[in-house]
Formats: sequence, structure tokens, C-alpha cells
Amino acid sequence: MRGTALLSILAIWWLVPTAESHELVKPPKALRVLIITGDHGHAWRETTPFLKDLLTKAGHQVDVTETPRKDLTAENLAKYDVLVLNYRNTPKGAKENPESVWSEENKQAFAQAVRNGKGLVVYHHASAAFVGDSDWDREFEKIIAGGWRRQGYHGKMHVFVVTVRKEHPITRGIKEFTHGRDELYQNSVIPPGVEILATAYSDKNKDPKNTGLHEPMIWVGHYGKGRVYHNVLGHDVEAMKSSRQFQILFIRGVEWAATGEAYYPAD
Ligand SMILES: [Zn+2]
Repeated sequence: MRGTALLSILAIWWLVPTAESHELVKPPKALRVLIITGDHGHAWRETTPFLKDLLTKAGHQVDVTETPRKDLTAENLAKYDVLVLNYRNTPKGAKENPESVWSEENKQAFAQAVRNGKGLVVYHHASAAFVGDSDWDREFEKIIAGGWRRQGYHGKMHVFVVTVRKEHPITRGIKEFTHGRDELYQNSVIPPGVEILATAYSDKNKDPKNTGLHEPMIWVGHYGKGRVYHNVLGHDVEAMKSSRQFQILFIRGVEWAATGEAYYPAD
């Protein structure tokens, strides 16, 4: 009898949601995030504050560098748990903001930080940050777990459905969602060993240039000891605002790259 009563109490305790279950589940500590930007070819001055705000509201401590030439040093990178790349090297950007250009030392400090276990988040066209043929360009492709390289492209912007393909701390509780008007990247380099977490169907009816294939939107990989979250969604702020699931996946991607776990709850 007592056993049954105890079981009933346990069952009720389990089934009745507590106040906490609807609140933000906080990671063990606020993660220290560095957004690297200052050049992109995209509207980095608009997307950076949006990303900063998103991560700050999720409980994290976010710094931004618009001068990677000054700030991508081993000493400075050591202060952070995770690096978010909202950057692409362009001739125009280099002219406007010479401090955005990565020196050889910056490149080595960045690579070494990730190799030694620093988390890395690659956001949208940062997938094409360095696409030449130098040793660095080829190493960069390995660091960011593939991506745009030179063969990547997209058709006309449109609304599309994103489908989760793998259970992972990042995708917990999310199966499929409609994402607002955005670029659908296609033909990305996906190296062996990478896990594809979400795809979107590249519909030829939307644009004849499209592949007619399910294209990777979010994937994870490793570079040395570093965890890498690669997300190609989010051309502009409007696209990032268009789906709450994009935002949840992004916050969790940052958390997972930093810690190997994801804490942010699904709505
Ligand atoms: Zn874009």
C-alpha cells in the first residue's frame, strides 16, 4: 500500500510540470563568446548586434572584435570559450577596415586555439571566409569542417522547410520548421566524419539553378580537439528573425561548441 502511494506521488511529481521547467536552463556558467567580424561582404554591422543580443539574452557574455588583426592573438583568444565567425575576407572590406585583415600570426593563433579545444561557430557566409588556394585556405576548409569553398552557391531567396536529420544535444525537441525568406546554400563541401544535423530541400521549382537535393544547413565536426558548429542559414537579420528554431539551434550550437552540451530549451 505504502509502495503504491509512493509510486503515485512519484508519478504526480513527474507529470506535473514545475515552474522551473518553463524557465531558461542555464549552463554551468555564462559562456565567454567572441564574435569575430569587421569584414564580410554581407551586412555584418546589422547581423553582429543581432547575434550578440541573441546570445546575451541566452545568458552568455559576448564580446565583439571588428579588428581581428589586433585581437586574434593567442593571449586574447585564451579568454574565450567559443569563437563565432561572422567574417569574410573581401578586398573592399580590407580597404575600408585594414585592421580586419588577418595576418599570418592571426591565422596561426586562430587555428591553434581551435585545434587545442576552443569551440568554433561558423555563421552563414563565413563559410567562404577564405577560399583561395594557399596552404592557409586549405587549412581553413579543414578548420571550419568544409562549407562553401568555391563550388558553393545559392538560388533565389525563398521560404523553405528545414528538417532535422539527427538526434543531437543541439537538435533535441526540434524536428522540422518553416524558415523565412533566406538563401539556401547548395553544394557545400561536407568532409568525412562530419555529422549533418539539418537539411533543406533545394526545390528546382523555386529556381532552375537549384539542385533538387536535400542540402545540408547545419552540421558539426571537429578540428583537433575543437568542436565546430557550421550553420549556413541567416543571410540577414530578417531571415534570422523569421524562425525561432533557427535562433534556438544557433544558441545551442554556440553552447555545444563551447562545452559539448546544449542547455537552451526548445520553446
Ligand atoms: Zn548571404
